[in-house]
Amino acid sequence: MSKNEFIDGIHNYCDRWCEHCDYTRVCRVFYDTEKDRRRHERRGEDPASLDIAMKDVGRNLAKAHRLLARFAKREGVSLDDLAKEGAADRSWRVRPKRQDRPLIKQADKLMLGCRDLLDAMRPQFGDEADGVNQRAGFMDVSGEADSLNRVRGAFEMICWDHMLIAVKLRRALEGVAEAEQDDEDMRDLHAYDSAGSAAVVRRSLQRTQAALQIIYDWDETLRDRVIDLLVTAERLLRGIESRIPDCATFTFPPPVRPWLEDEEGEGEGGGEPGRGRLN
Ligand code: SF4
Repeated sequence: MSKNEFIDGIHNYCDRWCEHCDYTRVCRVFYDTEKDRRRHERRGEDPASLDIAMKDVGRNLAKAHRLLARFAKREGVSLDDLAKEGAADRSWRVRPKRQDRPLIKQADKLMLGCRDLLDAMRPQFGDEADGVNQRAGFMDVSGEADSLNRVRGAFEMICWDHMLIAVKLRRALEGVAEAEQDDEDMRDLHAYDSAGSAAVVRRSLQRTQAALQIIYDWDETLRDRVIDLLVTAERLLRGIESRIPDCATFTFPPPVRPWLEDEEGEGEGGGEPGRGRLN
């Protein structure tokens, strides 16, 4: 993979579910993570251990600092002076605007409700899977197995998305505030980042709704709970589309960014819409 084949910033607007991603080949984060994993395995280290993960984080931060120092030197900027100014100036610490707090509350409500639903599903799913396994020895259970596989897919989807939605929504709303507060030449960048983060929220909400529908059909004892979550997800979806309308047209992989096109005379690769996984 040559450096030029990576899509710049693709990892900022994905769901970080690399096992299911169609774009690993053009993702710098995936490339670096895999390289680290292979290095640890060669050394007999466990790449999943916390200790090793923290060492990787430390090494990546040191690398980022070296790059920043090199850039600052080239531009004649003192990082020490910048750090002092930054510590004294609190104006850059942007929070979502007050009017956006209801959306954040909805996302937190959805996150907690999904967590409770997953807790309620675990024992029921386990009992049903045991029953199918026992019957598999003397009868055809392929229909039941297919149905359980769909439920398992829905369970995994909600597991993955319920935290992501809350985190990415905050990022999207901080971007709105930054676009309003920052200098004019930074506004496009903040608006782009906000739309990209909101697009992740939008896709995850749509997948969550599809997954909830599967769970609704699977177990009628969970239906009241599921309906509440569907209502919350729909409110959130309408809220984010109304607050950040560009999220509806922000494709994945991310579209060409106009300021890079201007600087480099070409874009970073086009976008075909991301594919869903609940089939
Ligand atoms: S773009 Fe794909 S491969 Fe890269 S971090 Fe996101 S999910 Fe993983």
